[in-house]
This record gives sequence, structure tokens and C-alpha cells, in this order.
Amino acid sequence: MSKVLFTACPKGIGNLLADDNVVSDEVMFMQDFDFTSRQMNKHEPRYYFKEVNKESNPEYFDSSSGMINVIVLDSLPDECKPEHVYETNHLLYHTNDQKYYIGKYYDGKPSRRYKPSSMNCLRSMYYQIIGADLDKQSQKSSDFYGICESGTDRHKRIQYTITKMKDYGIDCEYMDVETYIKENNIENLTVESKEEFETKVYDSKRNIVFLCDGLLRYRGKLYVLEIKTESSYKWLDRSHVDDKHLYQAYTYSLELGVDDVLFFYENRDVCTKKPYILHVTDENRRFIEDRVSSCDSYVKQSIVPPIEDTVSNRICQYCDYRTMCKVDSKWENRTEVRILRNRYA
Ligand code: SF4
Repeated sequence: MSKVLFTACPKGIGNLLADDNVVSDEVMFMQDFDFTSRQMNKHEPRYYFKEVNKESNPEYFDSSSGMINVIVLDSLPDECKPEHVYETNHLLYHTNDQKYYIGKYYDGKPSRRYKPSSMNCLRSMYYQIIGADLDKQSQKSSDFYGICESGTDRHKRIQYTITKMKDYGIDCEYMDVETYIKENNIENLTVESKEEFETKVYDSKRNIVFLCDGLLRYRGKLYVLEIKTESSYKWLDRSHVDDKHLYQAYTYSLELGVDDVLFFYENRDVCTKKPYILHVTDENRRFIEDRVSSCDSYVKQSIVPPIEDTVSNRICQYCDYRTMCKVDSKWENRTEVRILRNRYA
């Protein structure tokens, strides 16, 4: 029997093996597909370059949002000389043939900025900010990436339908997040990128970066829109906003100064939906501010935060720092708190 493992196949592995030792093309195809999907989603240290016409004032680019004309290399070529460092760690390079490139080095780890969806565990927030190593096995299967891609596609279609509501006489305005930020003079917020319906915003005061699904004025009231797609078995039991999405909503509310978040949960299998409005209080917003300050203070002192009682297995299940967390927890049992001075200096 072949030792090859691969993702679920409708025929079952037994039917795909030509004989005991030969792997059929069907099995090979499945493996090759899985491999390609993993490669495409691999997060490894890389250099990203984009040719620029003028060396002065070149356009920065975000390697995560669109890779058109972007050159990706594992290491910096010899003939490529760094010439100038711009903000946001972009570098201007020139080559022997006098071509100019704007480039950025990506170390394969999440950016050292807080994210609304990662606010559930203080310890994992800490690991992200210090740039801790991710679990070796954290590369997921092609099935996992497929679920994410289908979620992204569904977001766009739902957002598009919401923008069309007003064309059919419904009192619903899909607002531009950048315009809202400007009109409301929210000075600490900068729009980093904009896609069709989604806006990436950075808060320089709190070091929080977030993607906003949309801002709506529906029947005269302002809402942050948050779309979630989930499996049938979760969706069928859904009767309120998921506990693990609360801190995310509090963060959006804090950042944009909007009191209500409209969650729109869609069943991934049959596209049935359940909307829930969550009202966020001043206390909820203060909680997030305190959380970020608390994590900043742990980072400053190089102390790993304790695991909070509120962190459930459900949260740990999707965490990319489980290995490091286990190691630090062992140390924690020996000494009250482990001090990791200069570990990532
Ligand atoms: S494994 Fe759990 S407790 Fe540890 S950092 Fe991750 S989410 Fe937090």
C-alpha cells in the first residue's frame, strides 16, 4: 500500500491506486494540486520588487494585495544595491543596468501590529508583536485555503448586493471608509489600501491594523459591517454573535467611533443567513484600549503574559504559536513568570 497521504477524495484512496505500488494519475493530480496550493500560500522570507520609472517618490506597494508586476526572490541578487530607505520599510534598489526597483523584505511572519481578530489571547498578541517563530506545522492544506478563498468570494458578492440596496429604494447607504475617516477627522487612522469593497486601515496611535468589510447607514443608523461565513453545523446553532468575535467588534467600534456592529453570518454550504446587531459600550472599547496597553507593557519588559482563563481550546486550536506557548508554559510552572530578555532583540 502506498504511504502517500492526501486530502479527502470522493472515490476513496483504495480506488485510486492502480495496484499495490503504483500511484494513479488521479492520486498524483490530487497531490500536485495540494502541493501547488500550499506553495501559493507559503509564508517564507522573501524579497518583493517592483520596477519603478522614477527613482524619486516611487509608489509603495503592499505585497499582500495584488502581485501584478511584482518580482519575488528568496535572496537579494548581488547586482541589486540598496540605495534609499523609505517609510514603511520600502527600499529603493538599483541594478547594474541602471534599472530602479522599489522593494520590501518580508520575513514570513505576521506584521508586528495588533489585529482585531487576534485580540482573544493576550499571549498570542504578545508573540505576534515580538515576531515570535510560528509553528512548523502551521502550513495548512489546500482545503483550508479553499475555504478562505470561498469566504473572500462570498464577502464580495454580499457586499455588492448591499451596495445595490439603495437602487431598489431601500434606505441603505454603503459608505466609503476613507471618506468617513476624513470627514470625521480621525487623525490616527491611515488608509493603507483599498479594494473594491474592503479597506485596510492602520491606527498609528495604538498600532492596530484592520480590514473593514464596510460601513453602512441603514435606516438612518450607522453600522460597521462584519460578514462571517461558517459551516452548517455552527450556523444552525447560531443564536447570537459568537463570543470569539466580540473583541473584534469592540476593536472596530473603538477605531471608527461607531457604536453598532452588524454581523451577517452566512451558512457556507447553502448560503442561508442570520444578521445580528451588537451594541458596543464605552466599557467594551476601554477594555480593548487596556488590552493593547497591557500587551505593550509585557513587550517592553520582555515578559510572556500568563494564559487568561477566557482562552478556550477553540481559540488555541487555530493559534500558530502553540509550540512556543507550550514551552513557555513549562517554564512558567517552574518560575512564576519567565523573562525572555533580548530573545528577539
Ligand atoms: S496556544 Fe492558546 S494560550 Fe497559547 S498563545 Fe495560542 S491561543 Fe494563546
